[in-house]
Amino acid sequence: MPGNLANLPPNGRSKDGLLRQMAQMRHHDADWREGKVFSLVFFAGEEAHEVIREAHALFFAENGLNPTAFPSLRRFETEVVHMSAGLLGSDGRVVGNMTTGGTESILMAVLAAREWAKVHKPNVSAPEIIVPATGHPAFAKAAHYFGVQVVQVPVGVDFRADPVAVETAVTPNTILIVGSAPSYPHGVVDPIPELAAIAQERDILCHVDACVGGFLLPFVRRAGFPVPDFDFTIPGVTSVSADLHKYGYAAKGASVILYRSRELRRYQLFATVDWPGGIYASPTMAGTRPGGTIAAAWAIMQYLGEEGYVNIARQVMETAVTIRQGIAQIPHLTILGDPPASLMAIASATLDIYEVGDEMGLRGWHLDRQHFPASLHLTINYAHVQQAGAFLADLTEVVTLLRRPTLRRVGNRLLLGTAGAATRLLPRRWVSALTGKAAALLGGGGSLPSRSAAMYGMMGTLPNRGDLHDLVLDLLETFTQPETVVEKGFAKEER
Ligand SMILES: *Cc1c(COP(=O)(O)O)cnc(C)c1O
Repeated sequence: MPGNLANLPPNGRSKDGLLRQMAQMRHHDADWREGKVFSLVFFAGEEAHEVIREAHALFFAENGLNPTAFPSLRRFETEVVHMSAGLLGSDGRVVGNMTTGGTESILMAVLAAREWAKVHKPNVSAPEIIVPATGHPAFAKAAHYFGVQVVQVPVGVDFRADPVAVETAVTPNTILIVGSAPSYPHGVVDPIPELAAIAQERDILCHVDACVGGFLLPFVRRAGFPVPDFDFTIPGVTSVSADLHKYGYAAKGASVILYRSRELRRYQLFATVDWPGGIYASPTMAGTRPGGTIAAAWAIMQYLGEEGYVNIARQVMETAVTIRQGIAQIPHLTILGDPPASLMAIASATLDIYEVGDEMGLRGWHLDRQHFPASLHLTINYAHVQQAGAFLADLTEVVTLLRRPTLRRVGNRLLLGTAGAATRLLPRRWVSALTGKAAALLGGGGSLPSRSAAMYGMMGTLPNRGDLHDLVLDLLETFTQPETVVEKGFAKEER
């Protein structure tokens, strides 16, 4: 249409019509309420859901950037941080802030470490952070943003960080040692006391990534299950990240970054007094800070209380134990390492585990694929409490099916839908383009492998991981391109 300068609809639309369309647009989204999706969404039941929805709606317009304008938000954040610090072993001196998620919390911890080192480690010429291989990519992202070097160290056979490898990796440029409680891929808790001791002896910092565990492990322990020490009760731990929007069951966009002391937190803060717009101060990455998520985090903590969280943790753990024991009964499947809580990875020495994932996908279960080694990921939360039996029954059936090679297995039609963790949620033609390019790189002339399992296995063995890296960035670029542009672009490349 000529003159449609902004690509906006030329005229406004009716509220009813567009809300109806949006409701319809959700039909192809993952249905997490059923308890068959194993990551991305954490659900504590309908009533809790209503609490965060309403609390969020009450404050969705407010802005946490200026706490003096909204004393309510300031109080929510202060109390959320205070409650979180108490859960995570504060001696009363731990301080922190809310952020929009685990990534932002980790960015803050790495930034604070870099700024701290400028003052306390003047001889550091090129700051390094030591991150076990299973540490979250947010640390690599922080390094990418802030000009810090990641020194990656392998984990042990139990998939936990290896203190000897970490100690060996320390150099005069090391500013920070990272441990996870637990790590996302295998759900195991790194030996935080050992890692923190290495850091403390050398007067460097130690961050515990409790993004997924921070609002899980304390309650799992109170529910009576054994949990290794991981928090501020350990000398040498200098910062901890914990995500409210995971096992805190808060609305998306809520995490906390905590520091052992005010002095340390100071290195994360930003202020300028030179701007014509006035004096500007901001504690975290975000400028405008959404009031709704801050309010909803406070609300869910008040609504559940310690008792509520412990009850949920108990049920989640009972489900996790049932699933673990059930998997132990299924031949050909194993759990990697010894995860103490409700995250775990399923692997197999005899079956192609991605094929297991494909077949489970056919039965409606969404399991993320992992590699190094190949495995399927489970994050069991309250949404799965009723599902352990059905899950194990399907898993048993799938393994039996895959042991009979003459039977029909997942066909090509699934190929494009389940190509891997990075691509699982994408429209088929995007994955198709990625697959085609990957196949071409491998000398396959663009022909597609026969099954998604084969496809993901192939991605894991691409000769040059730089090629894969570029492929994934290509794909990322297309995410926010209008469909027509994407189709044209890919049509050209595929020809
Ligand atoms: C989820 C997660 C993160 C990142 O958190 P986001 O909220 O996705 O940014 C970091 N570390 C671990 C262990 C996680 O599970």
